[in-house]
Amino acid sequence: ASPAPGLPTPAAAPNRLTITGAGLVGSLLALYLARRGYSVDVYERRPDPRRAGADSGRSINLALSDRGWRALEGVGIAEAVREVAIPMYGRVMHDAHGNLSQQPYGQPGQGIYSVSRGGLNRRLLELAEAEAGVRLFFGQQCLDVNLRQQELHLRDIETGQELHQPYQHLFGTDGAFSAVRSALQRTERFDYSQSYLEYGYKELTIAAAPDGGWVLEKHALHIWPRGSYMMIALPNLDGTFTCTLFFPFEGADSFASLQTPADVTEFFGRVFPDALPLMPELTDDFFHNPTSSLVTVKCFPWSLEGEALLLGDAAHAIVPFYGQGMNAGFEDCTVLDELMERHGADWQTVFREFQQLRKPNTDAVADLAVYNFVEMRDKVADPRFLLQKKIEGK
Ligand code: FAD
Repeated sequence: ASPAPGLPTPAAAPNRLTITGAGLVGSLLALYLARRGYSVDVYERRPDPRRAGADSGRSINLALSDRGWRALEGVGIAEAVREVAIPMYGRVMHDAHGNLSQQPYGQPGQGIYSVSRGGLNRRLLELAEAEAGVRLFFGQQCLDVNLRQQELHLRDIETGQELHQPYQHLFGTDGAFSAVRSALQRTERFDYSQSYLEYGYKELTIAAAPDGGWVLEKHALHIWPRGSYMMIALPNLDGTFTCTLFFPFEGADSFASLQTPADVTEFFGRVFPDALPLMPELTDDFFHNPTSSLVTVKCFPWSLEGEALLLGDAAHAIVPFYGQGMNAGFEDCTVLDELMERHGADWQTVFREFQQLRKPNTDAVADLAVYNFVEMRDKVADPRFLLQKKIEGK
């Protein structure tokens, strides 16, 4: 097949590294590899998110914590990100009567940070592209990988044109439903498991105050714990909060039970009474925004010889209740960089040690994330828990 316009000619390119997926981890990884002097080609399925109109305009945020900051510091961009991050020093719980209680995350001044997913991704792409030798190819979906021939099978999203692109060393950062991982799954003795929660999630919005300020405490992660489900909210720079409702797919109170705008308004008025008046777009958001599922993916090995390696969600997708998916993916970049420092371009050793070091940690955080759902939706509302936290806080 001939290359799509703008794509490199399909010939083995010596010393060029190849990445599939320019999400949070892929774009940071491109930066790390470029800073080590490698040329890097990145193939991303979506259009360039920096182009006008590329995203839906909704603010979606993530909690960035210590391991994530360390990875950003490693390429010297932590300070720039900190300027657009909002520190959250604790949780604020909203009970069913609208009463509030608080739990600090640590010592005064310690916290986790709310950052815009789109903003962070765009910034990382800009920085990666500014490095000599980094080439970003958007609208290029990896359909499959021929691991034996070391070739990507790509499809141009706009033209439908397909081509086979050789690679020497492939880094699969193409997310929870990774095409690179699917190819590895067909190799011998590859372990794979995926498990879904019976809960989905939906993103909703708390509006800014008329003066552009925040209608709830800005420096906190807000939780409406309701036993078997919950809503959370993280602050955005524009005064809004992005709320996420974690809710059963089926049952008495569930996505299935809320079918009309009246159902949604009645439910929120009954269960989240202090939030409802702050959510003028609630019913529009509820019926326009997708209901998404929550999956944990575990697999091993993450690499094939020194030829292919999975990182980020492609290697270890976890549920979001520990706020650690991106942070763990960023830490992958830190650890890979340390191994490159130690072993240079001995990719086989780098990849082998990487997976041995990372797998126990990412398995642990995957399990902690599932347990933390119970804590956030239920235990944080338990008065005994609050008392316990007070005693610990002394
Ligand atoms: P992704 O961000 O999924 O990026 C993958 C990229 O690959 C995408 O750009 C995609 O378009 C591209 N791609 C996919 N398939 C192909 C293909 N076949 N060919 C080419 N390109 C492809 N983590 C935190 O640390 N803190 C949080 O607070 C947090 N909150 C979360 C809240 C929710 C509701 C969810 C669902 C997750 C949350 N996470 C959080 C987890 C975090 O979103 C992920 O861990 C993180 O996005 C993983 O980054 P990634 O680059 O590995 O994958």
